[in-house]
Amino acid sequence: MMTGKQTQFVTIMSRVTLAGLILLLAASGAAAQRKPRKSVVTPPPAPTVTPEELKELSDAASQSRETLIASSQTYRDSLERLLELQKQDEARAQALVEKRKQLLELGVIAKRELTESEQALAGAREKSAETIKLIEDVDNLVAEVRTAEELAKMPPPMPSEPVRSTGLLIRYVGTSRWSLGDFGKVDAFFRLSFKKPLPVSALGQTATHNHLGFDHREAIDVAVHPDSEEGQALINYLRTQGISFIAIRGAIAGSATGAHIHIGPPSRRLVVAPLTSR
Ligand SMILES: [Zn+2]
Repeated sequence: MMTGKQTQFVTIMSRVTLAGLILLLAASGAAAQRKPRKSVVTPPPAPTVTPEELKELSDAASQSRETLIASSQTYRDSLERLLELQKQDEARAQALVEKRKQLLELGVIAKRELTESEQALAGAREKSAETIKLIEDVDNLVAEVRTAEELAKMPPPMPSEPVRSTGLLIRYVGTSRWSLGDFGKVDAFFRLSFKKPLPVSALGQTATHNHLGFDHREAIDVAVHPDSEEGQALINYLRTQGISFIAIRGAIAGSATGAHIHIGPPSRRLVVAPLTSR
């Protein structure tokens, strides 16, 4: 159960981060409906853009990126505050369990009362874990936004040279067609190599992506550091299979926050227009 304070935080969080984003989601929904699936169409002629328009577009995109980073930070801060309250709840629930264990030994209370407090503790732990997961999702997303900036500065990978890499990332563009349905074969490889399931932190679009207006529908995030043994093995496997990926060492140089391997096409913002201040 949420305390009054927690409910208040969730409400504030929703207001702050959702206000400008509802428009984004509405726009993306409409775009998704319009988008024809796998139909063969003649590509439209390349639009002609004047240098002034180009500058305007690039300004709008960078403003939007800054807004996205700022929204992510606001959302992350509210999650951190929520987590603090949830940790306090957890500590209180833990203390109650200890107290009831003693009372049960003394024969003062029934076993049922201990069981109830143990269930409350398990519930409190679950809530904290959910919030920690959301914070990790935001970190991954911010790392992908930064990655998109890095990628924009690089020449596109060519069939003759399918890998581009910087200190922050390794981008590989494979020739295989990729869909989320191919998840199974990557998972099977990982299970065979490491005797455990692929540690997936995001399978396709998640609530966090929706929340912050990011298109991640065709991609999987794997929670391994690219330079770890598991990361290296996964990278080698993906390359031998011709599966595109971006291995991200972190959101910023020198920090592993947000480090993961993104399999599939690069994620992108749902719209490039700046958010309105409504
Ligand atoms: Zn991703």
